[in-house]
Amino acid sequence: MRFDIATLFPDFLEGALSESVVGRARKKGLFEAHCHNIRDYTKDKHRRVDDTPYSERQGMLMQAQPIYDCYKAVCEGRRPHVIYMSPQGKTLTQQRARELAQMDEIFILCGHYEGVDQRVLDRIVDEEISIGDYVLTGGELPALVLIDSIVRLLDGVLSQPDCYEDESHYRGLLEYPQYTRPEVWEGEAVPPVLLSGHHANILKWRHEQALLTTKKKRPELLQNVELSAEDLAILNNEC
Ligand code: SAM
Repeated sequence: MRFDIATLFPDFLEGALSESVVGRARKKGLFEAHCHNIRDYTKDKHRRVDDTPYSERQGMLMQAQPIYDCYKAVCEGRRPHVIYMSPQGKTLTQQRARELAQMDEIFILCGHYEGVDQRVLDRIVDEEISIGDYVLTGGELPALVLIDSIVRLLDGVLSQPDCYEDESHYRGLLEYPQYTRPEVWEGEAVPPVLLSGHHANILKWRHEQALLTTKKKRPELLQNVELSAEDLAILNNEC
């Protein structure tokens, strides 16, 4: 899978894309990420990429020309899926990350200042994605959030698929509580079933706890989960 990211701050992205799980996966060639400086494509002799909005608003807007020229140069002969990181987009979900992880090529546009001239968005963008209903100064952090959410689903990035398949949101539920050594910490013991070595009982406990955790923390999520009669009994017994 290949990402091309158009940004005014390629070094910021390069730093984050070279670290930790994502950085290791990139070094192993499990995905490619290429950061492109939009400023390299401006025709302005002072390398400006922004100008004042016609709406008489304060602040600056990114101009269409450097973004469009960057897109054309980077995507020559290719047609990647183009995403504009925007607080106006649909909010990113685990489901959308799973769908995007099936794509071969994604081009991500990071806005800055007051945003981007609408004409270039209309020309090149397939989808706008938001990382939440709040406004950040730029699209770089949202782009990193998006890439991280996709990359960890690619083959070989995490050691086993159940690293993510059992996690919150993958099947609609939140994850069950997790414990590690020691068995007793400050008088608090690990639930005995987890020490029993009984695989079927542990799986049952994990599912029950995932249901109960979801009910406690994010009950609205249960509306989108197919619940069996047994699941409903677990949830109702808890009342
Ligand atoms: N004026 C724009 C508006 O009200 O919709 C917000 C512009 S914001 C200050 C600058 C850039 O940050 C945007 O162009 C976008 O790329 C990025 N950005 C800000 N908040 C975001 C969010 N919640 N999700 C995704 N991108 C965001």
